[in-house]
Amino acid sequence: MNLFETIREMGHQQVVFCHDDAVGLKAIIAIHDTTLGPALGGVRFWPYASESEAFTDVLRLSRGMTYKAAISGLNLGGGKSVIIGDPLRMKSEALLRRFGQFVESLGGRYITAEDMGVSVRDMEYIRMETAYVTGLPEEMGGSGDPSPVTAYGVYLGMKAAWKKLTGTESLKNVKVLVQGLGKVGMALVELLHKEGAFIYATDLSAAQLEKAQAEFGIHPVSPDAWYTQPVDILAPCARGGILNADTIPHLQCAVIAGSANNQLADEKLDSYRLANRGILYAPDFLINAGGLINVYTELEGYSRSRALARTEYIYEATLRVLSAAEQRGITPHEAAMQLAEERIRSISTLRTRTSQPNLSLSIA
Ligand code: NAD
Repeated sequence: MNLFETIREMGHQQVVFCHDDAVGLKAIIAIHDTTLGPALGGVRFWPYASESEAFTDVLRLSRGMTYKAAISGLNLGGGKSVIIGDPLRMKSEALLRRFGQFVESLGGRYITAEDMGVSVRDMEYIRMETAYVTGLPEEMGGSGDPSPVTAYGVYLGMKAAWKKLTGTESLKNVKVLVQGLGKVGMALVELLHKEGAFIYATDLSAAQLEKAQAEFGIHPVSPDAWYTQPVDILAPCARGGILNADTIPHLQCAVIAGSANNQLADEKLDSYRLANRGILYAPDFLINAGGLINVYTELEGYSRSRALARTEYIYEATLRVLSAAEQRGITPHEAAMQLAEERIRSISTLRTRTSQPNLSLSIA
């Protein structure tokens, strides 16, 4: 793999390789773009099959964070980091603290947070060496579980998409299928229940289904029937890659609006497959940005009500993206990417006229 060619193609500003034999640390921090503000993104501790796989993953994920922050109107750039290795075998206080020192050495250009393979306890160690950490649990003075805020954003994005399609934003009696009754899916079901939607739901866990049935009167659907059930709105809240050449032809819904990351197996092809079937797709990275908005709010001194108020921006942003897609004759996914790029470009001209990017979010 040609490292610099790949970095150039993906448009990254800086990629930092962190190595310390004494503690067994091999990590990569990728800073994609800091035009709008410091690059924020979680640290993933993962047993990658190869170093090139880790490199590709960190570049892809950090770039995704740039678009998510930009389309959400946040003054944040995109970053991500990966620690290479088996977290069960390799994790130690020294390794995590050493990683924290590398984050600190970047002086705030990169802010880290929890991701796959990293626990709250691990974040505590990283936090011992750097202030550039967010998304901490409440007991550590942080914002705690972001899922209710994420669910609120998905709910508002869903209402905006429904409004675009039907002229009304009310979901009363609208048939919604929620796939995945985890932290986000269950909170979304609660909001939909309050609004009087007719809720179908599916989960691999019978216990979660029973809970949702008892508390919110959902109608259970078997896990493999999610893409054939006739509904108005499908809300994928379980895992990525589920919208693909195999599933899209069978879908019987008018709108897709859910929290799962990377729902489109192939961003370009599958967003066109959905458009060709006349299905309105609310881009995942736009409507699931509540979690990012939550940790952004933590950087300023957390207030749940401020995080929720900021999340309300997702409603307008979704309408704007869907209208731009219509006007430009492109898919909503492409429109969201274009609007994000346009925002970065317009702020970058501001920066060249007024010198430096704003990398100075106050960190408590
Ligand atoms: P979670 O692990 O709490 O819940 C996922 C649920 O999906 C579980 O109940 C699991 O049993 C179920 N599930 C898994 N595979 C399934 C399948 N094939 N069919 C039906 N159900 C299945 O996760 P979460 O925090 O609720 O996140 C859900 C999705 O939203 C993930 O893709 C996550 O990356 C994304 N997301 C979450 C947040 C957040 O704030 N938690 C923010 C942005 C994006």
